[in-house]
Amino acid sequence: MTRLRKLGVAVGAAVTTAYGGSVILYNPLISTNDFGGESRLEALRKQMHDHNAIVPSRETQESALIAAGKDNPLDVLVIGGGATGSGAALDAVTRGLRDGLVEREDFASGTSSRSTKLLHGGVRYLEKAVFNLDYGQFKLVLHALEERKRVIDNVPHLCHALPCMTPCFSWFEVVYYWMGLKMYDLVAGRQLLHFSRYYSSKQAGELFPTLANKVNDRDLRGTVVYYDGKMNDARLNVGLACTAALAGAAVLNHAEVISLLKDDAGERIIGARIRDNLTGKEFDTYAKVILNASGPFCDSDQPGLVTITGGKWTTYRSMAEDAVNAAIKSGKLTPTNGCVTNNLRISGGEGWDPSFFIVIAQHYKRMKSTHGGKVIPGEMDSAAAMHLSHAYGTLAEHVAAIAQNENLGKRLAHGYPYLEAEVAYCARHEYCESAIDFIARRTRLAFLETNAAKRALPRVIEILADEHKWDKSRQTEELQNATEFFKTFKSSDDAKH
Ligand SMILES: Cc1cc2nc3c(=O)[nH]c(=O)nc-3n(C[C@H](O)[C@H](O)[C@H](O)COP(=O)(O)OP(=O)(O)OC[C@H]3O[C@@H](n4cnc5c(N)ncnc54)[C@H](O)[C@@H]3O)c2cc1C
Repeated sequence: MTRLRKLGVAVGAAVTTAYGGSVILYNPLISTNDFGGESRLEALRKQMHDHNAIVPSRETQESALIAAGKDNPLDVLVIGGGATGSGAALDAVTRGLRDGLVEREDFASGTSSRSTKLLHGGVRYLEKAVFNLDYGQFKLVLHALEERKRVIDNVPHLCHALPCMTPCFSWFEVVYYWMGLKMYDLVAGRQLLHFSRYYSSKQAGELFPTLANKVNDRDLRGTVVYYDGKMNDARLNVGLACTAALAGAAVLNHAEVISLLKDDAGERIIGARIRDNLTGKEFDTYAKVILNASGPFCDSDQPGLVTITGGKWTTYRSMAEDAVNAAIKSGKLTPTNGCVTNNLRISGGEGWDPSFFIVIAQHYKRMKSTHGGKVIPGEMDSAAAMHLSHAYGTLAEHVAAIAQNENLGKRLAHGYPYLEAEVAYCARHEYCESAIDFIARRTRLAFLETNAAKRALPRVIEILADEHKWDKSRQTEELQNATEFFKTFKSSDDAKH
């Protein structure tokens, strides 16, 4: 079988199966309209967007994976809970397939929480496409621009347009960048976010006061501003996994595939041995197709696997679609409908708009316990309300209710909008199983300021201990793990020197 190499972030995704032995990229087998039971899809959408829906517990998800035995296999088992794997789990379950996903650490703990957070077509790739007359490259840009808009539409609370300013220090640069970025607008066509435009050096200085107006004796002649997308990668990833869970997928983080199971002839892969990394418990799960989305270092030579690798965050949805198409073909699966993720909001995105924070600010208080044990009310100020609205979409109301009703309204770290209530919410509704899950992926505190995350840590552990009924030794273990984790960051103190 052809070994698939990682193609790099700029290049398209590849899907391979053991049987075809070559790259397969093909169209959905069934269109949404072919599915007679439109009502099933509608019911599924309601289930995913029901405000009071709760993801199945970790125990329930693990039991569902264990119950998928030899005689009752899943349609698809996805290995890896990054952008691609979580996208594939959501795609498969919304096509009516029985699927599961296992992730050895946390959702997004691999590459998917460490991206540059851009949803982009790739201006530089367009430049290459033009200068090298490379139509393949051009099509990739076109495709990524379409996907950029889809992600922003489907996940409006976590993704939005981002203005990018290109300073020009000669009139040649002004013309060059203006023309190039106008071409970028043109290629985006109806998926354009906003038109690019030129700003004189005076206007640019007003917009961006710290912009240098002279570099190496060259005067600033102006800037060209164009738009790409920006996203919260870790929360988008967690959102995909949780939406898949709400739709019925058995997703389990901190669960690692430690070996693959073969049929009696030793030829075909029919399942996986999985270790729950929180308890050490091992179990087998059987599936008609194993979809390997284990990231940049995945081994695609394993016969019997459908492997998806490469691509970029921006195109995760279409990569997932291609991977599920390949899985359907490889396992002769019978989905009830075609891919619907083109137009599928992730949980919290349905009904959200940018003014939603006002609901949070006006209707909720932050009840705070003082050190002396007294409970005092505090304002749900705009910074906190805005943060909750963007991080959780319409589900922010649940977090705000916890802050108000369970006296968990204090900020976790001075200067940051993260609230104690978020720890409880994420433990209950987002499979947040460790302190690191919280400070690195449910929020970005560890990345924003390591010292603030260190200060917040004891309280994060205390709340998680309450939620998950951790004993003292588990709490100590969490503290040690997080302390080790912090060592992988440059401390904010070091950064000052
Ligand atoms: C520095 C950098 C910046 C980037 N910036 C951008 C950007 O701005 N915009 C953009 O569109 N793209 C960007 N990308 C690309 C994008 O981040 C990746 O394409 C994307 O995150 C890949 O997702 P993935 O799911 O394939 O891999 P991963 O996120 O790595 O997920 C694979 C998962 O598989 C799990 N796993 C591995 N083995 C097992 C096992 N045995 N059992 C269970 N689970 C397992 C891992 O723990 C991991 O979580 C960037 C990439 C890099 C490296």
